[in-house]
Amino acid sequence: MRVGVLAVQGAFAEMAAYWRKKGADTFEIRQLADLGRGMDLLALPGGESTVQGKLLKDLGLFDPIKKLIEGGLPVFATCAGLILLAERIDDPGRRDDTRPEKWFGVLPVAVKRNAYGRQLGSFTTVGKWDGISDTTMTFIRAPSITTVSDGVEVLSTFDGQPTSVRWRNITAFTWHPELSATA
Ligand code: GLN
Repeated sequence: MRVGVLAVQGAFAEMAAYWRKKGADTFEIRQLADLGRGMDLLALPGGESTVQGKLLKDLGLFDPIKKLIEGGLPVFATCAGLILLAERIDDPGRRDDTRPEKWFGVLPVAVKRNAYGRQLGSFTTVGKWDGISDTTMTFIRAPSITTVSDGVEVLSTFDGQPTSVRWRNITAFTWHPELSATA
């Protein structure tokens, strides 16, 4: 399997290492030409969604990536990656209209940025995976998923709230499975 890892900002090295550990070949997506290299899966890492979204637009990557996702390319996203995908973003830090209400808007969930607070927003805890097993989840200034539309499958929860979801070709996490030994 060949995984293209978006590498404009954030934890792309950790994301690539996660997929290599699983036996995949990985390459970094930094410019338009990289999208032509052929991939079975697109990985969107954690980081700062606002910075990533703006860079994607500046680099001319935004529309082509959106088309690939809408065309059914499997996508695996964590944290900022989830925020880029969400149909609605509740952004407590948004003071003006320089941040859009959504980026790709292809995943029918609403997310709240920095939902656990800015300073104490990073922690590791144990949540439920598929409603069955206890799983270590590491949150880094994580968003929460506040609404899921019909048809969106909830894969894991913490404190009764969804922390990962699957919809069509998209699997997205509020936490960082690439940082947990157990995921
Ligand atoms: N707080 C970041 C954002 O809003 C997400 C943090 C992360 O990706 N670990 O984009």
